[in-house]
Amino acid sequence: MRIAYLDRTVHETDGEPKPNGDVSAISKSIDLQGSVETGDKTTIASKDFGGLYSIKPLALIKPAGSDDISRAIKAASRIPRMTVAARGNGHSINGQAMTNGGLVIDMRSTEENHFRLLNINGSFFIDVSGGALWENVLTRCVSRFGLAPRSWTDYLSLTVGGTLSNAGVSGQAFRYGPQISNVTELEIVTGKGDITVCSETRNPELFFGSLGGLGQFGIITRARVKLQPAPDMVRWIRVVYTEFDEFTRDAEFLVSRDDGESFDYVEGFVFCNNDDPVNGWPAVPLDPVHGFNPGIIPQTGASVLYCLEVAFHYQKVDHPSTVDKAVAGLLKRLRFVEGLKSQVDLSYVEFLLRVKRAEEQAKANGIWDAPHPWLNLFISKSNIVDFDQTVFKKMVKDGIGGPMLIYPLMRSKWDNRTSVALPDSEIFYLVALLPFVSRGPSVEESVAQNREIVEWCIKEGLDFKLYLPHYQSKEGWKRHFGDQWTRFVERKASFDPMAILAPGQNIFKRTHLS
Ligand code: FAD
Repeated sequence: MRIAYLDRTVHETDGEPKPNGDVSAISKSIDLQGSVETGDKTTIASKDFGGLYSIKPLALIKPAGSDDISRAIKAASRIPRMTVAARGNGHSINGQAMTNGGLVIDMRSTEENHFRLLNINGSFFIDVSGGALWENVLTRCVSRFGLAPRSWTDYLSLTVGGTLSNAGVSGQAFRYGPQISNVTELEIVTGKGDITVCSETRNPELFFGSLGGLGQFGIITRARVKLQPAPDMVRWIRVVYTEFDEFTRDAEFLVSRDDGESFDYVEGFVFCNNDDPVNGWPAVPLDPVHGFNPGIIPQTGASVLYCLEVAFHYQKVDHPSTVDKAVAGLLKRLRFVEGLKSQVDLSYVEFLLRVKRAEEQAKANGIWDAPHPWLNLFISKSNIVDFDQTVFKKMVKDGIGGPMLIYPLMRSKWDNRTSVALPDSEIFYLVALLPFVSRGPSVEESVAQNREIVEWCIKEGLDFKLYLPHYQSKEGWKRHFGDQWTRFVERKASFDPMAILAPGQNIFKRTHLS
């Protein structure tokens, strides 16, 4: 009866669902424990961190839990052309968590639904809500249990469901794999509205399909995340290279070593060989007191330089000389420019919340809320030298007004049963170009440059994938998934025949934001 009311509300808009200001009508129609917002109250769901698109939903649903989500999906599935999108913390760049005239499910309202420690055969896990922020998972796990997840993203104001729908990578992924390699069970409300628990052995097609599944199989309401003892402290170190081959040689050396024989975190970035406050030398020092001495850079230094960023975990009870010795032992194998090294010691939680501090600064300077035309790529080791020559040394040699990350990952740490598409080679690089437009080129220039880079990768036949993909054509998606295309489509059809993939709608339409 109530669902029929929603049917009528939407049908009356002549097929194309349009935002409807009648909150009570929609709310009553689905009969939720949570709430339904329409009109101006949906504003948050019509934008994202990218700030490139503005797309109005019909309604923003704030579910109390899985039952509400199930009801909303079932209601939506009865309405032609109705689409549903889960919204985590809306930190996508290209509108991935938006839907035009559809229902947006605000997962943040379910944050508190799950938080339970489990000890399964001597290993610890935490059951958390899909709408929980990783920063809260971190602080709660460390303060209550002295335990922490093993694999992170650089920035933690992202939801569990949002990063698991992509991959979730940072400097720990070379050892533990991405976040999607560190969950053992999910509860998902499928596109049919079924509340389903899945794992490697129970409904495995749904489990693996949803990991890296771009929100296309259903809505992750709970995840079981592997934990390990949290270290107390981290020594965070940056060293500088003038030569790309030496930088990659050392980075690959570190990520290929066995546990206990390398750093606990390995990342890197490219910066300009000049005094530009955003793109240049000042981007390197961790310890502002000591600064950056450009006089040490060898004459061979070109327009861009490379910074390897590593971290070493330790406990407060460890003697300082033991830590110094272990770190020195690892550093002595590396060929960075002597003297161009910066380091700080900080708590493990402070280290993992390092981008939060940058966010606070950026907010104070008014640059956090400007658009972010960011580009993330996975590029095969076999093509990374070409990429450096053309992209870093030519196209972006003057900087982009934000970080340019580059670090290696190991394919063998990823499970090829998930939905994520990766380059073929065992070692591939994450490259992230992250401009803040108020500090660099305009939005249009950055978007055009991103397009130029991707087109160049395609033209040159590079073995690469877009990370956080957002293609606008079926051809683009087919190329992206390659051999995995059929598996993705078949899996999706079995879990989401109607609601999320509504008749006449499909992944391309939902992510195609024209
Ligand atoms: P949203 O943007 O809200 O959603 C992302 C996608 O997931 C959408 O398709 C949405 O429909 C779907 N979705 C959301 N919740 C669910 C759910 N519960 N169930 C099913 N589908 C769902 N990524 C990395 O891997 N490593 C990084 O270091 C990293 N750093 C970042 C730093 C910043 C400052 C920002 C803005 C982003 C960063 N990202 C990084 C990218 C980030 O992981 C993705 O954008 C992620 O999707 C954002 O999470 P979110 O909770 O905001 O998701």
